[in-house]
Amino acid sequence: MKYTKRFFASSPYLLSILHKDGIKKQFMSPSDKIKKQKFNDPLNEASFAKAKGLIHRYPDRVVLTVTNRCFGYCKFCFRKKNWFDFEGFDFEGAIDYLKQHTQIREVLISGGDPFFLNNAELEKILAAVRGIEHIEVIRIGTRVLSTNPMRINKETLSLLKKYKPIWIAIHINHPDELTLEFEQTVKDTVDSGIPVVSQTVLLKDINDNSEILKKLFCRLVYLGVKPYYLFGCDAATGNEKFRVSIEKALSVMDSLRGNVSGLCVPTFAFDLPNGGGKIVLEPQKLIKREKNRYKFVNFEHTEYDYEDI
Ligand code: SF4
Repeated sequence: MKYTKRFFASSPYLLSILHKDGIKKQFMSPSDKIKKQKFNDPLNEASFAKAKGLIHRYPDRVVLTVTNRCFGYCKFCFRKKNWFDFEGFDFEGAIDYLKQHTQIREVLISGGDPFFLNNAELEKILAAVRGIEHIEVIRIGTRVLSTNPMRINKETLSLLKKYKPIWIAIHINHPDELTLEFEQTVKDTVDSGIPVVSQTVLLKDINDNSEILKKLFCRLVYLGVKPYYLFGCDAATGNEKFRVSIEKALSVMDSLRGNVSGLCVPTFAFDLPNGGGKIVLEPQKLIKREKNRYKFVNFEHTEYDYEDI
């Protein structure tokens, strides 16, 4: 059997916190081996690629996968295929495509981790995208705050500020990721006037528990980060042990909705297979309807009648 460990380098920062339970369960350690195998593409992103590293699935936005490198590698990554088969990012082709498609108003710069690029490489992309008149918003999807927060230093923030409006969407799954370094970097980013939202993957035996998520989301809001999405774990090769049923996910959502402020509650979503797109689900609150008369169940599981107009 062939194994490889060549991609699992972690930043010194991540190595320093890798002993924490909520971190260790998520990230490959440098000594981990992974069986060489065929990794799938659970969202069928390849069929929506318009240039190398440009995925156009929804009408008004695109994803740019500008690198396949990260500061730490998540065991449940849905782009594991790119760890081995990344074809690169075609900068010229992507910018040409963006210029020609005027319906695109938002560009998500993703990867891998876009902050794995150095500032000059990142600026080349930001400047080119910002130079396209119909692109209104740039979003950067990153795990850097949990894996190498020092990368977001004064120079990086000055660079980002030049190309506003830029939204930073951080990937964070567990309160163990909320270190002093993480919190200081969030504070510096928010103080720079760059809005930060979070994306969390619901992971079995790691965070599939409303108390853990409540702690995470409430602290993020305290720091000025809006919890944006709670994602179901995609069916990428090797992800079976991390996946949580929709029923369990909705029960966790239900418990969050009733018990913490709406500001602290993200939207639950998961991706359909074969590129079917995102599905957003909320716990079912409507239990009966007759014409304009509704019966709802509230967060305390009490039933209420409601007469609509
Ligand atoms: S940081 Fe993102 S791209 Fe990198 S391994 Fe984790 S989930 Fe995948």
